[in-house]
Amino acid sequence: MKHLEDYRDIVGDEIVSEIFQKSKGLYGKKILHVNSSYQGGGVAEILNHLVPLMSDLGIEVDWRVIHGHHDFFNITKKFHNALQGEEINFSRLKRSVYTETNKQFTTYSNIDHDAVIIHDPQPLPLVRYFKKRQPWIWRAHIDLSEPNDEVWSYLKQFIIRYDKIIFSANDFIPSDIGTDSEVIYPSIDPLTVKNKDIDQATIDKYLAKYGIKDDKPIISQISRFDKWKDPEGVIEVFERVNDEVDCRLVLLGAMATDDPEGPRVYESVADKAKGRDDIIVINKESDILVNVIQRVSSVVMQKSLKEGFGLTVTEALWKGTPVVASDVGGIPLQVTDGETGFLVDPEDYEEVASRILEILDDPELGAKLGGSAHRNVKEHFLITRHLLNWLDVLKNTI
Ligand code: UDP
Repeated sequence: MKHLEDYRDIVGDEIVSEIFQKSKGLYGKKILHVNSSYQGGGVAEILNHLVPLMSDLGIEVDWRVIHGHHDFFNITKKFHNALQGEEINFSRLKRSVYTETNKQFTTYSNIDHDAVIIHDPQPLPLVRYFKKRQPWIWRAHIDLSEPNDEVWSYLKQFIIRYDKIIFSANDFIPSDIGTDSEVIYPSIDPLTVKNKDIDQATIDKYLAKYGIKDDKPIISQISRFDKWKDPEGVIEVFERVNDEVDCRLVLLGAMATDDPEGPRVYESVADKAKGRDDIIVINKESDILVNVIQRVSSVVMQKSLKEGFGLTVTEALWKGTPVVASDVGGIPLQVTDGETGFLVDPEDYEEVASRILEILDDPELGAKLGGSAHRNVKEHFLITRHLLNWLDVLKNTI
């Protein structure tokens, strides 16, 4: 188990000490996080590193996951898609499965905490079904700047009960929300298996294990198999790059338990790569493999069409690997075009391919972008900064 002082070598004593000082006043306070998946996707990733460190500070933290049938997750994924702008058949049945699953949570969970933090829309209605005796905070991780109106106005009846809302970016704050809102950027944990330094022997071992040859430049995208991450578009871009420079594409993705669309997207991508040895598609939940691929890639792509924040981008930037990523959602918060990576229009395949080629042609440029990116992540997107933000919110809210 990690302790906060383990981060001194990375962020310095001053920041670690500030975190310890800030946690005074929160000792013994009981905080409950609720989300919809213990594994897979950025929210689970964040909770996996944030919760143990909050506990280490003397806060009593619980983390619970809403239980739901397949139907519930099908419906909440449709809500998610609609909140990102897609059409939906917003039936009474969908709404009823959504609220009934939330109501059910009251039968297997008691809440006697000093504050409750609800992540994303899946458990949003819980605030209505519990007797509210403490502040409730809604932590919205998605881009809500252009939601489907019908779904948004339906969800607002629950949102309005919250005491505070936390967004990942200023641009995501809807104009019609009166609730006290604040922005907290997500973060990565530099000491996890996914992000820590690893030696060449480990890299070679995992490349061999998964049959990934590094005899030519590797381009990768690491993301859940989700249409919003546009894996098929990544293949299109790869074809253009590969016409100019002989290289290899690795698409690594795992499934999230709250995303029932994953298997279908995976099948379709795997089908496109069938019989080819220059496109490797891996469906595997493995932190060490994520680390290895982010390090061996000459370029990491993130060709998302929508993106709440994109921790995969942060993870690659931290490793100093050059990134070519979409200028959407939370990605431009992390990537300054031409300084810490390249921002591209994800629909413009020529532009994406030409930025990748620019880096492949000029390793010095790649190294320069990667170096600046690493320093920027160190300053803004590590778990220690994230903890400080949450301590401030909790101190001001409880
Ligand atoms: N991830 C992983 N294995 C994979 C694909 C993704 O562990 O095969 C992790 C990735 O490293 C990151 C998280 O899942 O930590 C994805 O977060 P992000 O914010 O990029 O996107 P989300 O999935 O939340 O839309």
